[in-house]
Amino acid sequence: MKSFKQFINGKWVASDSHKTFPSLNPASGKPIARFQAGTKNDINKAVRAATLALPKWKATPAPKRGEILLEIASLLKKHKQRLGKLVTEEMGKVLTEGLGDVQEAIDVFEYMAGEGRRLFGHTTPSELPNKACFTVRQPLGVVGLITPWNFPTAIPAWKIAPALICGNTIVFKPSSDTPLCALEVVKLLIEAGLPKGVVNVVTGSGSEVGTPLVKHPKVAGISFTGSKATGEFITANAGLKKVGLELGGKNAIIVLDDADLDSAVEGILFGAFGTTGQRCTATSRVIVHRKVKSLLETKLLRRVKKLRLGNGLKSSVDVGPLINQKAVEKTHKYTQIGKKEHAKLLCGGEIIKGKGFFYSPTLFTNVKPSMKIAQEEIFGPSLSIITAKDFTDAITICNNIEYGLSSAIYTNNVNLAMKAVEVLETGIVYVNSSTIGAEVHLPFGGTKNTGHTREAGIEGIFEFSNTKTVYIDYSGTLQKAQGVK
Ligand code: NAP
Repeated sequence: MKSFKQFINGKWVASDSHKTFPSLNPASGKPIARFQAGTKNDINKAVRAATLALPKWKATPAPKRGEILLEIASLLKKHKQRLGKLVTEEMGKVLTEGLGDVQEAIDVFEYMAGEGRRLFGHTTPSELPNKACFTVRQPLGVVGLITPWNFPTAIPAWKIAPALICGNTIVFKPSSDTPLCALEVVKLLIEAGLPKGVVNVVTGSGSEVGTPLVKHPKVAGISFTGSKATGEFITANAGLKKVGLELGGKNAIIVLDDADLDSAVEGILFGAFGTTGQRCTATSRVIVHRKVKSLLETKLLRRVKKLRLGNGLKSSVDVGPLINQKAVEKTHKYTQIGKKEHAKLLCGGEIIKGKGFFYSPTLFTNVKPSMKIAQEEIFGPSLSIITAKDFTDAITICNNIEYGLSSAIYTNNVNLAMKAVEVLETGIVYVNSSTIGAEVHLPFGGTKNTGHTREAGIEGIFEFSNTKTVYIDYSGTLQKAQGVK
């Protein structure tokens, strides 16, 4: 079986652990390839390389850095079909979504390439005469990027592109479930002409590789996407570094009694069972007005039962596998909890026997807002229907949750839609659309225990840069602010 090395200081090198680990195809459970089980020592080498590369890279004019990003986008386009297929093979999502994953990476490199000609600061008048005041953007320094497996090309791109355009150098630790997708993206970064040491990749587990990166004193910032538990660990161990956290979600679609129910069903299906429910923005709760609950439930159940499970490379398949056996067990644990809590299981709730990590699309109804299945992130194909008395009740149920990533409302009442936009406590709100579907030129992130970071769009630039404030006094005398004589 093919064994991959890690990329440090412009070279593909083996880890000094002399150990490797496999990445599995979740549709078959079979290994795809083996990867270096990195160590603290590998992280030290990678941070040293990134530190040495920093002065030259940050002195490179941002538009020149932008040219390399544009070249990366163009290479990603050239390899889109191959990479999209690889995303499906290594992560499991259906091919059209695998291709979407890569398209998102292309979009973000194109967008951030343009930022090379902006990186705006602002100018403002001084309170004193003959004095200029403005701000400029500066890189943080060496940044550590730690990513999950559910968007194995897009999430790394969301971090790598803004980090590079701002002039940072990178140590990247991808998820051990999808290292191949990460390394294939890195190969294209190298082909596009990134100087040695600017991007370094160390593969391996969170505890052996992620933790030393988080704790390393020469790392100025950590950008992390993953679970709340790891986010809490990073917060406690990163010291005074700048830390970006994109954590879990428990997203809901509200359906009011005037909504177009067929359109709502489409949005719910895509939100709950797209990517097999493994999106941070996945719909895991439907909060429906009591007057249309029964009708919506019937329409939804009919469609959920028809979803076809299988290998995402087959065009006939709607729902792919879960990422690994642990995810299957976690989803099933929540099915058991739901039953114990006396929610009504309408369909699914079964581990599919045989090859791969498959779980049947699961629909619960008569779910109470306080039940565990309505409160905790499952991250699998499991959806709960909750009944609301009215608009106000629906909003209260939607907000009464520890997370705050995405929410959606289906209604044709513009007044209620606008009110929902105002009062929903999530970082992203959709009207008459699903909870998923972010576009890279808009900020993305949450509130509460989802973390408060914003990535993508212009806010992705803020995430990976510091603001420097500049005062230039051209009066020829010492002028003092605040009226001090
Ligand atoms: P995870 O278990 O937290 O892992 C994420 C990354 O952190 C992996 O690379 C992991 O390494 C690493 N890691 C684990 N322990 C670590 C430690 N002690 N120190 C440093 N790094 C460590 O999350 P996941 O299961 O991969 O991803 C699913 C979660 O991500 C869900 O909660 C989902 O909601 C969230 N997510 C959020 C967003 C968002 O934008 N808000 C987007 C996507 C996913 P290994 O796994 O290789 O050991």
